Amino acid sequence: MNKLNLPAILGGSPIRSIPLPRYNMIGAEEKAAVMDVLNSGELSGFVASSGPEFHGGEQVQALEKAFCEKFGSLHAISVNSATSGLHCALAAMGIGPGDEVLVPPYTMSASATTVLFTGAVPIFVDVEDSYFCIDPKRVEQAITARTKGIVAVNLFGQSANLNALRKIADEHNLFLVEDNAQAPGALHHEKFTGTIGDAGVFSFNRHKTMQSGEGGVVLTNDGDLALRMRLMRNHGEVVVGAMNISNIVNTVGLNYRMTEMEAAVARVQVSRLDALNAPRIALANRLTEGLQTLDGIMPPQIAEGNTHVYYFYPLLFDASQTALSREQFCKSVEAEGFTLRAGYVKPLYLEPLYQQKICFGREGFPFSANTANRDLVYEKGICPVVEDLAENRLMVTNITYPPLTISDMDDFVEACRRVLAHAEEIIDAGIT
Ligand SMILES: *Cc1c(COP(=O)(O)O)cnc(C)c1O
Repeated sequence: MNKLNLPAILGGSPIRSIPLPRYNMIGAEEKAAVMDVLNSGELSGFVASSGPEFHGGEQVQALEKAFCEKFGSLHAISVNSATSGLHCALAAMGIGPGDEVLVPPYTMSASATTVLFTGAVPIFVDVEDSYFCIDPKRVEQAITARTKGIVAVNLFGQSANLNALRKIADEHNLFLVEDNAQAPGALHHEKFTGTIGDAGVFSFNRHKTMQSGEGGVVLTNDGDLALRMRLMRNHGEVVVGAMNISNIVNTVGLNYRMTEMEAAVARVQVSRLDALNAPRIALANRLTEGLQTLDGIMPPQIAEGNTHVYYFYPLLFDASQTALSREQFCKSVEAEGFTLRAGYVKPLYLEPLYQQKICFGREGFPFSANTANRDLVYEKGICPVVEDLAENRLMVTNITYPPLTISDMDDFVEACRRVLAHAEEIIDAGIT
């Protein structure tokens, strides 16, 4: 047989023989902004006291202003990571031991662990089959007298069903926090994700669309929440006295402050957000066009009213259309020189933290604080849609970023086509 046409997994030459280029959108403007900070000698402007320096330095404040302007929010609180931002937002809601927060299980771990750090517990709610975000219908069914709020994760670059979640939250007097780490600039019925919840959290970590090394921002329109988050960010316990804050809830603070260098980079990155998202969307659209012609894999669906910003590009595997297993398919496409992951994360509740309910100390706190009304069930089977996606159907690639090109997308489609066309040989070769 002609080796040239064989899939790489069977010894043919890979469609892509040189490694994919890295994502690097740090340009002259970011570099100049950092040099300005370094030349100033003031690498952080924060002081934990009730004076003006409680709010950080020039770059931190400029970043917060830029976020407010870009997203039309009243307050932006910069932090040193989205994880810190989620913790600030949840703590600011005043929750604690005995409380429950509804969280999807198919997300980065911090969407749920930050609930634990307030002393409350996450209750995992299954996702919508087509869009992979928390399912409003199931949210409604999961509400109990202990439920205080919802964490919605805008996964892979697409909004959760935020309007429906907002309505449920308002009807039941719950808060809605958006984990928007993966969807900066996405829209839900003409509103930016991150602005529909009571608080919306962004990330600038090394994998995200906007980057500053580490860092994050929380948006809110609620001045009281904003103040609480600022207290949490900067040793709140030592300033509430001087600030005459009488309504003290969860005001014990940490150091979640961003440096001036990080803020300087993030400020430039947010000014370029549309330009960072545009190539992702164009590349993803090309992939979708090409993959639509193949039987066995299904490109992502976009819910009505949503725009997708493709932090990742999720696909579904259709086992009824090919004899290959999902794992054989992914491994064979990867051999062609691309990334394609079978599944995303393990459903969070299957991790030992939840299986053994050991978090703080040995007595099971905070899980042990939630025993009066119900058992906390974190068993396999509680979220069948997520489990099916994780075990059988979902695949994720992260190739929709510049400097990758339209022609690279065509090559990915070609890699998928080649693998599907050689299904029998791949199976016969015993590839697992
Ligand atoms: C990346 C990410 C986070 C955490 O971001 P950090 O800035 O690294 O703390 C939280 N949630 C989701 C969904 C993420 O993708």
